[in-house]
This record gives sequence, structure tokens and C-alpha cells, in this order.
Amino acid sequence: MSNSTKYIFVTGGVTSSLGKGIISASLAKLLQSRGYSVTIQKLDPYINVDPGTLNPYEHGECYVTEDGAETDLDLGHYERFLNTPTSQANNVTTGRIYQSVIDKERRGDYLGKTVQVIPHITDEIKERIQILGNKGTHEFVITEIGGTVGDIESLPYVEAVRQMLWEKEGDCLVVHLTLVPYLSAAGELKTKPTQHSVKALLELGVQPHVLVCRTEHELGDELKDKVAKFCNVSRSAVIESRDASTIYDVPLLMKEERLDEVILGKLNMPLGTEPDINEWQSFLHKLKNPEKEVEIGLVGKYVELRDSYKSITEAFIHAGASNNCKVKVRWIHSESITSDNVANKLNDLKGVLVAPGFGTRGIAGKIEAIRYIRENQIPFLGICLGMQCAVIEYARNVLGWPEAHTMEIEENTNKPVIHLMNEQRSVVDKGGTMRLGAYPCQVNNDTTAFEVYGKENISERHRHRYEFNNEYLSDFEEAGMIASGMNPEKGLVEIVEIPEHPWFVGVQFHPEYKSTVDNPHPLFVNFVQAAIKQQVKVMSSSELQS
Ligand code: GLN
Repeated sequence: MSNSTKYIFVTGGVTSSLGKGIISASLAKLLQSRGYSVTIQKLDPYINVDPGTLNPYEHGECYVTEDGAETDLDLGHYERFLNTPTSQANNVTTGRIYQSVIDKERRGDYLGKTVQVIPHITDEIKERIQILGNKGTHEFVITEIGGTVGDIESLPYVEAVRQMLWEKEGDCLVVHLTLVPYLSAAGELKTKPTQHSVKALLELGVQPHVLVCRTEHELGDELKDKVAKFCNVSRSAVIESRDASTIYDVPLLMKEERLDEVILGKLNMPLGTEPDINEWQSFLHKLKNPEKEVEIGLVGKYVELRDSYKSITEAFIHAGASNNCKVKVRWIHSESITSDNVANKLNDLKGVLVAPGFGTRGIAGKIEAIRYIRENQIPFLGICLGMQCAVIEYARNVLGWPEAHTMEIEENTNKPVIHLMNEQRSVVDKGGTMRLGAYPCQVNNDTTAFEVYGKENISERHRHRYEFNNEYLSDFEEAGMIASGMNPEKGLVEIVEIPEHPWFVGVQFHPEYKSTVDNPHPLFVNFVQAAIKQQVKVMSSSELQS
């Protein structure tokens, strides 16, 4: 056995959306539960330098890491499964690779050589893959290659994998995720697409070691034999991956299929300790056997594509399980809310979350929703733009300032209760220039926030340009909305709440990014508790009336 870092590549064939991210995270979880240190990286073949400038409709949520990288939403799955932070190094795009190669060329680093895809781009890719391994802290680096084998744009990545397999023989392994579709007309599962996608990899010089076959039906021994024989993989390395009712089942399904054992065997690594998955199992048990259900509204403008709010919905799953409660999310399009229909849309909800976002579309509906929630004592959690809307609503309807607004939407408003941060005033470029990543926050005693966190000093992740305007803080506090959390260095308001209300909290940061299976986020846990209390209150008052 060698002590060097092992590199596991996860490629995808036949179609996109097979769940490479979940398979990577599940494999990592199993290796971690055997005592290994593992990290997961995603290589994305698009030319954007990062997904920060992408519209959520294009690519779902932009996930933010501790070090302020704007990354692919799969990194959220990695953190939720492994409970360890990722960083900028865990997500690399073609844009970033080219940017770095072009910067080096301009600096003259290539000493007059012609700069080419091979070797310069592929060298840069290999370097980015090995940055994580070279730290010496991880025994395994799992690298998920975005896209589908056969795409023109993923060719340099597959070539980099081919080179690494050759250069680091014995330390690298390829897991290929494919689809075995069921043809109902024929009543059969079909392996040909898998054979073709393995052929596509072989043409590029890569022989996968393990095949994970997504399927709606049991593969059976005969089909597994056939896939093994036609794709040159050992029989034990044909892994069935059946559709699961929750992504959190997948590590256990992969354990049953011995994915981790097969891989450790092929990499000549000891099996380690027997996997410790008791906590995971107890989470799954709670998730699947809730004692109660509570319905919470999610008001946002991207609700047609639910992946836009991935970390929020997962945080509800974690918080629900920890409360033995199923959180049913009602998706409400902020553009559809008006003063006429708001009661109809929200009155039976036990809590409402107003989502983050950018720009004008849907703002009026968010503000209308918050007015209704505040006046009707429904638990409220506002995140980032959701918090900013709560501040605007309070200014307009409680302080009596109808012109109050955020400068993001009305630059010249007379009452800029939300304004551009000082450090943002000279910013011109849109990409990577927001206030990003983890910042400390000091929580005041005797507040809901303190009850939630149980401590004074916390750290949360940010992604915004605008903030609460401290010029108006005393007006707000006198009127009943307080700042319960502040950035200790800059005095920025990070948490607002209304003590008079049963549970009304707005946060400038994104708690959803830090919720994991092992550590459900306290804000979500407490918010769900408040929603459960609301349910009990509503039920007992309707019993009294009947
Ligand atoms: N658009 C707001 C800002 O930039 C809020 C951002 C967000 O919700 N992530 O401050």
C-alpha cells in the first residue's frame, strides 16, 4: 500500500442529471465513515469563471463556501453529506482554467512556447486536481467531472484524467455513472447506451474501473454479467443504483452494493474501520417516520426551478428531521402575490420564509407577504433580500415612510433604508465582487437570535452588496424592530427581529449554506419549532371555537 493520495474520478455517460454529485458525496461519506479523510471537487466545463454570474434558472442555486467562493450547487451536497467545509479549490470551471493559463501567458511564464490545450490546459487541470491532494490532509480526492462523456467541452478534462491514470498508476480510479433505461414497450432494461458511453470513454483512452448503473428496476445477475463483459469491468464493479425516495438513502444503497469496498480493493487500500453510520441511519429513520407535519411557505421568484433554493429545502429537511416533523414546503411565486390575494395564499401557513434574490422582479409581492405575516403573527424567516424586504416593509407600514426602499431598486429614494455598502461603491465588475463568504457576527443577549444560537459569537456566510442603513437604526429600534446581531468590526446589521412578534427574524447572511445532516442549522431548527408551536396554537383556538 502506498501513502500517496488516491484520486477517484467520477464521469457521467448517456445523459445528464444522473446524480454524479450524489454518488460522489455518497462514496465520500462511506469512505469517511471508514475513517478516511476525503474531499470532493467538481470540475465544470463551462466558460463562466464561476457560477456567480449565472441566472439561477440556468444552473440552480449558487453555493457559497466559507472562503467566499461562488460555486456549483453540488458543493452544497458535499458539505451536507460530509459535514466538512469546501473551498474555492473544490470547484473549477473551464473559464477559470483558461483565465489562469492566459494570465501566465501574458506574464511570459511559458517562455515563448505556443500555448495549447495539450499540454497547457490539461496541465492546469491536473494541477487544480492535485492542489487538494498535495495539502497532505486528504487520503482521497474525489473529482466529479461535470457534463456527459462525449461532450466537446469536457474533452480536455477526460484527457487530463487519462494522463493522471498513466502518470499515477495505482493511485487513480475512474467511476463511470451511466443509465440503464427501461423500455416499457419491450418490457426490458437496455444496456446498449451504457456500452456506447463506455466506448466513448475508451476512444479517449480511458477504461473505467467501476460502473454505477442508474436504473428504475433491479438489474439482476444476467444484466450485470453482460455489462461487465462488454465494458471490460470486473463483475463486482458493476454497481446497481436504483432510484431512491430521498438522496440521503444513497450512501446506504451504495454500501449495500459494496461500492466503497470494491473501490478500496481496486486501489489496494485497507477497508479501514467498519463504517460508522449509526447517526446517519437515525437521521434517515426520523426523516422517514415523522410524528407530525407542518406546512411552511417559501416565497421566491425562481420557484419554477426548485434547484434555485436547494440549500434552503435541504436545510428544512435537516431541521424537520431533528424536530421529528415533516416540513411540507408550499412554493409561492413572489410575483403572484398582491394585497388582494395575500391572505388567501398565506393564511393557513404555519411559517413563511422569504427567499434571497436580486433585482426588482417579485419585490412587491415579497413586501406584501411580509406585511401579512407580521400583522397576522405568523413565524417568519427572511434571508438576505428577504431580510431587506422585511426592513422596507417595516419602514413603510410601521414607521410610516411610504417611499422607503432599497437602493438596489430605487437608487434615489429619499429613505434608503437598505443602501449600498461602502466597500461596494467603487466596484464595477459583477463577477466575484459581492461581500462573500464567512464573517463574524455578535449576537445580543435576550433576543430570539441568542436563544437560537445559544452563544454570542457566531460566523455565517454572506453574498450581497446592499445592507441595512445604520442612519435609521434608532428609528427602527424605537418603533419595535431591533438589530439583534451585528458585525463586530464594521457595525453592519446582520440580524433583525421584532420582539413583539412570536417569531420574526431576518438575516443578512445565508444560514442555509451551513446546514448539514450532522449539524442541522439552529435557525432552521428553531424556525420549524416556531411553526410547530403556531400549528398547536391554531389548532387549540379552532377547538375552542367549535
Ligand atoms: N440583492 C441583495 C444584495 O445584493 C440581496 C442578495 C441576496 O439575497 N443574496 O444585497
